[in-house]
Amino acid sequence: VVSAEGIHKSYGPVTVLDGVDLQVHRGEVVAIIGPSGSGKTTLARTLNWLEKPDRGTVSVDGERVGLRADGGFAGDRDIARQRRHIGMVFQRFNLFPHKTALQNVTLAPTYLRLTDRATAQTQARELLTQVGLGPYADRYPHQLSGGQQQRVAIARALALRPSVMLFDEPTSALDPELVGEVLAVIKNLAAGGMTMVVVTHEMRFVREVADWVVFMDAGKVLRQGLPEDIFSGGAEPRIERFFANVG
Ligand code: ATP
Repeated sequence: VVSAEGIHKSYGPVTVLDGVDLQVHRGEVVAIIGPSGSGKTTLARTLNWLEKPDRGTVSVDGERVGLRADGGFAGDRDIARQRRHIGMVFQRFNLFPHKTALQNVTLAPTYLRLTDRATAQTQARELLTQVGLGPYADRYPHQLSGGQQQRVAIARALALRPSVMLFDEPTSALDPELVGEVLAVIKNLAAGGMTMVVVTHEMRFVREVADWVVFMDAGKVLRQGLPEDIFSGGAEPRIERFFANVG
């Protein structure tokens, strides 16, 4: 579904991504882990073209992100259209504060005229129910906990029927007692066959849910493999040290 090849990205003199390749197949949950500053967030944002790589290509469903079908550079409209296929959930929930949960979820599909208003509302209610927020549809973000807001953000991303969901440290801004409810929703999506890329520090979640783990270090993929192979460390001192620190 997603294929990134040879991604390089620098900010001034600092190289953040140094030739990263990533493949995500349909129905797979790929976890991106690694030390702070290793480039995980930048990689996730590159897949969605929120960061433009200096070199390298990203394809989603066989379509080159950032390029038009005729090979020209994509304009904002083309990129917006391509992004529809890539749902993104950030560390901060970024809900529209003056709109209810339901309105937050219906806004994009209505704006993009994917469905009529009534259908968008029915689907939004279904999605809110799916993330356990059926009864909260008419609440405003400030009337919801951080975990509930993040679940609205997940429903909002799902409303565009993406072929892949990207999660960038979706629980790291949450109080510890709210982390579980958000991870449970992501786990449910995984069980339902959703293709996902998850940048996370939650190692238990990675063990339980990931099909494939990518360990980043200093802008490169240091190692990738099955969770059990990565977690065993395999005599790679940087991976051993990372696990010793995150517990
Ligand atoms: P963390 O786990 O702490 O979130 P990360 O692995 O996600 O880290 P990134 O957020 O991708 O790492 O950042 C990688 C490096 O790029 C860091 O050194 C960061 O300071 C730098 N960086 C990220 N965004 C920018 C930017 N817009 N301008 C300059 N430097 C940046």
